[in-house]
Amino acid sequence: MAERYKCIFLFGGPGTGKGTQGEVIGAILGFFHCASGDIFRSIDPSTQVGQIFKDYSSRGELVPDDVTVRLWAETMQRWIDDGRYTPASDLLVLDGIPRTREQAQIMDEHIDVLQVIHLTCADRDAIVQRLKKRALDQGRADDADENVIRNRWKVYDDESKPVIDHYDADKVASVEAIATPLQVLCNMLAVIKPIHETHFGA
Ligand code: AMP
Repeated sequence: MAERYKCIFLFGGPGTGKGTQGEVIGAILGFFHCASGDIFRSIDPSTQVGQIFKDYSSRGELVPDDVTVRLWAETMQRWIDDGRYTPASDLLVLDGIPRTREQAQIMDEHIDVLQVIHLTCADRDAIVQRLKKRALDQGRADDADENVIRNRWKVYDDESKPVIDHYDADKVASVEAIATPLQVLCNMLAVIKPIHETHFGA
């Protein structure tokens, strides 16, 4: 088996800040942020995969597992080949994938999950407001419609939540998502720092 990518897996429902925080952490040397949603959004909409993505995401649904994991694995390999991501020295910060138990099972072959950070949020209405603001800021169609947002949360409850049980409980740390972005970042870094030092040196 090829060397698996050592990673921190950011897990949480839509709008809990995985992407925002993942981008900041990914800007630090020695970390590499990979968001499955960004990979999908970068695909040419006229291609077959681009069309599949548009169909599913516009309803707030997940793209089928085989399409998703294949696209992710191909993209990772391309980033390694073009030198953007170096598995031996970069800690991968995975955001938005795996999002079903099946994806988690398939991806065990590719990733070594050192830590799961679960961004939790008790106040869903606060998150819905945050997503509607993101729709205005970033022009994301799937955030503009409150029904689609609520459906994404339902899909999260039904299909994604069980992913957490795929990993050992002692690898999962919870961080409350409703706080200032700086506070959330500090709490996440407190979890990540010792993991990075242990696996990649101080
Ligand atoms: P995100 O930016 O992570 O909210 O993802 C936007 C949309 O991309 C989702 O609503 C799904 O339609 C699709 N998507 C992203 N990641 C995955 C995944 N791991 N599995 C299936 N669909 C995904």
